[in-house]
Amino acid sequence: MITFTDVTKRYPGGTFAAHNVTFTVPAGSTTALVGPSGAGKTTLLRMVNRMVDPDSGTITVNGRNIHDSDPVRLRRSIGYVLQEGGLLPHRNVLDNVALVAKLGGASTKESKERALHHLGLVGIEGAMVRRYPHQLSGGQQQRVGVARALVGGADVLLMDEPFGAVDPMIRRDLQSETRRLQRDLGKTVLLVTHDIDEAFVLADQIIVLRQGGVVAQQGSPAELLGQ
Ligand code: ADP
Ligand code: ADP
Repeated sequence: MITFTDVTKRYPGGTFAAHNVTFTVPAGSTTALVGPSGAGKTTLLRMVNRMVDPDSGTITVNGRNIHDSDPVRLRRSIGYVLQEGGLLPHRNVLDNVALVAKLGGASTKESKERALHHLGLVGIEGAMVRRYPHQLSGGQQQRVGVARALVGGADVLLMDEPFGAVDPMIRRDLQSETRRLQRDLGKTVLLVTHDIDEAFVLADQIIVLRQGGVVAQQGSPAELLGQ
C-alpha cells in the first residue's frame, strides 16, 4: 500500500507542484495519475522513491514512513519502469535484468535464472535475451523494462509513462498484458500517464491532477465517467 497525506511541494521560485495531496493506493491495485503537462504527476511519483522530497506531508509505503527509510534501500524495494525501458545500452537484455537481481543480493546463477524467468513472463525469450537494447523494438525494450522492475521481487511498482514511446499499434497489447501481469502478481502500482485511455485500461483508481492539486479522484474508471 502507498499513502500520501497532505503532501505539498513547491520548487524554488515555482508554483506548487503538489498542494495538500492526499490519496491511497490500496495493496495489490493500480492507481493512475493523469493530468496535463506540469500538473505534478512526475513529482508525486518521484516522491515515492525519494528522488524528490516533499516540503510537508507524509508518504508511507507498506506502512512505513519513507522518510525513516534509507533512500538506497527504499529504491531497491520499489520497482521503477521508465519510458523507453531505461536500459543500460552496453549490456545485453539478460544482463540488464540479472544485474538488478544481483544488486538485491542474489548469486550470479540465481540472478540469471530469475532474470530468465521474469523475461519469460513478459514474452522475451530465446536468442532475444542476448541482444542489446538497440537491437530491440521500443515495445520489446519496454517489456524488458517491466521484467527488470519485477525481478527484484518488489511488491510496489512505479511506472512513468511506461508505454509513451511504444508504437501505438502494439501499445494496446502491451497494456492488456501488463494489466494481466498486475492482477496475477498482485503488485501495488502507481502509474503516471497523460493517456487517459491507458489509465482506463490499467488502473483501478484514477486521480486527476491540475497545478499540483487533486481535481478528481475516483475509485473506478466508470465512476469517473459518471456511470
Ligand atoms: P523526464 O520526465 O523526461 O525525465 P526531467 O527529469 O528533465 O524529464 O523533468 C521532469 C519534469 O520536471 C519535466 O516536466 C520538466 O519540464 C520539469 N523540470 C525539470 N527541471 C526543471 C526546472 N529546472 N525548472 C522547471 N521545470 C523543470
Ligand atoms: P507533470 O509530470 O505532470 O508534467 P511535473 O511534476 O513534472 O509535472 O511538474 C510540476 C510542476 O513543477 C511544473 O510546473 C514544473 O515545471 C515544476 N517542476 C518540476 N520539476 C522541477 C524542478 N526540478 N525544478 C523546478 N520546477 C520543477
